[in-house]
Amino acid sequence: MKYVEEPTYTRFITADIPRCDDRNTAFSKGQREGNKYSSMHEQCVENLQKGREGKTVIDAATFSAGATVDYLVRKNLLGREMRPVYNTGHRLRSPDPERISRIVKEKARWLGADLVGVAETDPRWIYTHWGEQNVRYSRAAEVGDPIEIAEQYPYVIVMAHAMGYEMVRRSPAVEADTDLEYSRGAWSSASLATFIAELGYRALPAVNEIGINVALAVDAGLGEAGRHGLLITRDYGPRVRISKVFTNLPLVLDRPIDIGVQKFCEVCKLCSRYCPSNSLMNGERTDQPWDVHNVPGMKKWPIKAMNCLDFWVKNGNHCSVCIRVCPWNKPDGLLHRLVRVLAERNLMSRAIVYFDQLLGYGKQTRDLSYPIDSHMERIQRADQSD
Ligand code: SF4
Ligand code: SF4
Repeated sequence: MKYVEEPTYTRFITADIPRCDDRNTAFSKGQREGNKYSSMHEQCVENLQKGREGKTVIDAATFSAGATVDYLVRKNLLGREMRPVYNTGHRLRSPDPERISRIVKEKARWLGADLVGVAETDPRWIYTHWGEQNVRYSRAAEVGDPIEIAEQYPYVIVMAHAMGYEMVRRSPAVEADTDLEYSRGAWSSASLATFIAELGYRALPAVNEIGINVALAVDAGLGEAGRHGLLITRDYGPRVRISKVFTNLPLVLDRPIDIGVQKFCEVCKLCSRYCPSNSLMNGERTDQPWDVHNVPGMKKWPIKAMNCLDFWVKNGNHCSVCIRVCPWNKPDGLLHRLVRVLAERNLMSRAIVYFDQLLGYGKQTRDLSYPIDSHMERIQRADQSD
């Protein structure tokens, strides 16, 4: 793994990058235009009523169970300043940045982070305004409220939470680790923010709220951005969810890393080949956005985000196919570590992709069913009766 002075996306910047408005994300637009997220839930209920394979009531109950903490923490704690409970009047005096960074990272791992790094809060990656989706789930602000945090919170601690390899192999059937890791992200970021607030410093926990996770994670040295627009980490590939805490606690910045993703993605293209909604580009990078959901100023592979969300609606649950098929998504093991050494150095990339396919990595698992009759019957719940 190579540490670099500047994140690898820097070499593709062609102009000033305008800040993104959270109202322009596909999720927010989907809320405005007939609430696509609710339509996805309706399709989910139809799937479970009909007992569709991989989308039965057991599967839906699994992802709901995984999301429990996420929903609770998001609507009560994320996207707003964390208040200390006990230490409301004192502050740790002049903490040594190196020592306190080490301690904060230890606490982040203790609280559920698989990877953790620190970056400056780059205003380019902070949304200009709150959008519908994050307002709906966090209730931390009103739609259109401005977001200006870089000065009050000059540092961001970024955490990655690894999803399970076997669970991701189920996608586009229900894979519940996305939901579980959102819960872990919500729990970890809120809890770490409490730790910092109790030291007497400002802390703002968030998962998807406030800023663009992938860019912040790249700056914090957790990985690089891939063709599919997701963070690719060295240890887990793109099989992670991201959370963060913005703070004014003086910390030491981590250096970005170069693990060879940029060149590897130029030859691989598996995510674009297997994306069920044709949302991913298989051509050259461009700095021309498809639509309002992409920002200009950097050559990359812009995503047709609305196509992606439309597929989720049709599917009845979110999709992780682009994570599943990515060759960086591998369980840990000696062979995979050896192949990673080659991939990081951009040696034999075509052969790696070829054998990845030949050996059946990235294929959907056949093991989608539970050993139980999943037919449903109608019930009258007590809270639904007169
Ligand atoms: S989540 Fe699914 S539909 Fe969306 S870009 Fe990835 S593979 Fe395509
Ligand atoms: S599937 Fe291939 S092209 Fe797509 S992000 Fe992963 S490595 Fe890059």
